[in-house]
Amino acid sequence: MRFWGVRGSISCPGAEYARYGGNTSCLEVTAGGRRLIFDAGTGIRPLGLELARHAPLDIDIYFTHTHLDHIAGLTFFAPLFDERNSVRMWAGHLKPPNTLKAVVKSLMKAPLYPVSLEAFRASIKFMEFKVGQSLACGDLTMRTAPLNHPNGATGYRIDHGGKSICYITDTEHRVDRRDVAIIDLCRKADVMIYDSSYTDEEYARYRGWGHSTWQEGVRVADAADVGTLVIFHHDPSHDDAFMDGVARDAARRRPGSASSGLPRVIVAHEGLIIAP
Ligand SMILES: [Zn+2]
Ligand SMILES: [Zn+2]
Repeated sequence: MRFWGVRGSISCPGAEYARYGGNTSCLEVTAGGRRLIFDAGTGIRPLGLELARHAPLDIDIYFTHTHLDHIAGLTFFAPLFDERNSVRMWAGHLKPPNTLKAVVKSLMKAPLYPVSLEAFRASIKFMEFKVGQSLACGDLTMRTAPLNHPNGATGYRIDHGGKSICYITDTEHRVDRRDVAIIDLCRKADVMIYDSSYTDEEYARYRGWGHSTWQEGVRVADAADVGTLVIFHHDPSHDDAFMDGVARDAARRRPGSASSGLPRVIVAHEGLIIAP
């Protein structure tokens, strides 16, 4: 898997974010001959430039949800403008009358955007499912679970060849108990990417905003016997120096390596490649 955007809420350019990166959520997973993209934050733009050179492409984009930081890069994803490509977009959090197609349409509408959905030349299919469903995806196994986020969100687990990764963002924890749906989904996973927008110390100020903390990520990872926790969806106020501090503190809480050989905790940065 390769991380193209690790930031939450809004992209943040600037020298003080150069090492961890300022692009919002986008994760590329390749497994079993498939290419899966999770979320279309601003990080999907550079990914699209790299992919565009390899057309014709067959791509699946899975949305955790459609808040702007997870969809803002979609209209700059180059493969969508090439008629040789096929792109399926998946979402499980929407309820009628909102459909995924309607959401993308509303993003590409004057006066917010100069061209409409018809500007996409690729063959596009909008695939709706109900969060909690398992999804067919070649010889990969894909399971989903609901996350605790305003307007809903979907957590994903992909299993292939005896390896498993989970993508859990955006979600807010409860302080008095662990989220059973997340623990069940992530049980014994090799890697769990987790919404670590805040620290426990900051969380009191942001209750109800729909996000979690890296310390809760440690608790969930330990409870679910996860190999490697990946700290993800960094808050825009957390610059590189702050994130270095998080990395130090988190390594103390989850020292050593998992059976995969990966560290037990990793702070995601743009360009990070993980192969469990
Ligand atoms: Zn987000
Ligand atoms: Zn969100």
